[in-house]
Amino acid sequence: MSKRDFYEILGVGKTASPDEIKKAYRKVAMQYHPDRNPGDKAAEEKFKEAAEAYEVLSDADKKAQYDRYGHAGVSGNGRGGFGGGAGMNMDDIFSQFGDIFGDDLFGSFFGGGGQRGGRGGQRSRGVRGSNLRVKLKLTYEEIAKGVTKNIKVKKHVVCSTCSGSGAKDKGSVQTCGTCGGSGQVRRVQNTFLGQMQTVTTCPTCNGEGSTITAKCTNCKGEGRVYGEETVSIDIPAGVQEGMQMNVSGKGNAGERGGMAGDLIILIEEEPHKELHREGLNVAYELHLSFTDAVFGTQVEVPTIDGRAKIKVPAGTQSGKIFRLKGKGFPAVNSYEKGDQLIQVSIWTPQHLSSEEKAILEKLSHSPNFKPHPDKNEKNFFDKIREMFS
Ligand SMILES: [Zn+2]
Ligand SMILES: [Zn+2]
Repeated sequence: MSKRDFYEILGVGKTASPDEIKKAYRKVAMQYHPDRNPGDKAAEEKFKEAAEAYEVLSDADKKAQYDRYGHAGVSGNGRGGFGGGAGMNMDDIFSQFGDIFGDDLFGSFFGGGGQRGGRGGQRSRGVRGSNLRVKLKLTYEEIAKGVTKNIKVKKHVVCSTCSGSGAKDKGSVQTCGTCGGSGQVRRVQNTFLGQMQTVTTCPTCNGEGSTITAKCTNCKGEGRVYGEETVSIDIPAGVQEGMQMNVSGKGNAGERGGMAGDLIILIEEEPHKELHREGLNVAYELHLSFTDAVFGTQVEVPTIDGRAKIKVPAGTQSGKIFRLKGKGFPAVNSYEKGDQLIQVSIWTPQHLSSEEKAILEKLSHSPNFKPHPDKNEKNFFDKIREMFS
């Protein structure tokens, strides 16, 4: 994925304030605006790229995710999945950020406020539904392989009686008299730049283009009711605690046919009984008996993907770290994989029979039992550094 850095796209530093980010976006968007660069595909891509960057950096939550995890932390503008976004389409950009260009100037400067500008364009139906956040707990095993989860979400759903229109029947929907159904009204304004034609949302129908004379009885005209939906979500392998996934259009249904909000999935990790996650690596503490460490043995250890056999050589010291290459977590959207690190901890017996004591006492003066660490062995601190590098 060779996605460009969002800060670089907008030409701002990481410490830029929301206001600076907004200004920077406005500048870039104006430069590459399709009405100024008709038929220029490269400009259109730049325009979309800037909108995507702004969508993330203008949202405190998404910005924090991005700062922490980079592109992997934020979904491709809510198309589901992490960073694999196909970019935003033009309608999204204008419906979401239209007003950043300024209601007054945008429409008239570019494209004459008609087919596309600002809030102009097509009628906006209803009111957009709100986003919903749900937490989703995943086990290490699920994270290791990726998983499809079906979750029940309690939320506003489209009213089935009126299909979301909020009207009792077809006859009770009337074209708005103020705007003639276009959802917008035009007015001419005198400004220091000369006469400007501005397009604003029709105040009578709120841009919907129609009014309702009789309401649907099931939803009382709202076009949605409180209910439940089972949403199927594909979780990619390698997600981490704190990551967010946007599932576009699976949040609360909008009012009167308005767009649904997004479902935002907040990833949580279920702690594992024996394994501990450290970034992409997995740590495991292997308790060995003194005799197994002396004679060597073969043991089975848990991994995030079943069990694995490892050979413990004779004379293994406490603190020794074995590395199972590639047995850690995969990174989201890349082929990188972590390792499993197994640290040996030799178990010192705490209760001994008098017979056991006698045997050990006999051995305690043997020169072989005196510690004589190999000078070439890595010391404890080097090992720790290596373990999490
Ligand atoms: Zn209804
Ligand atoms: Zn109207």
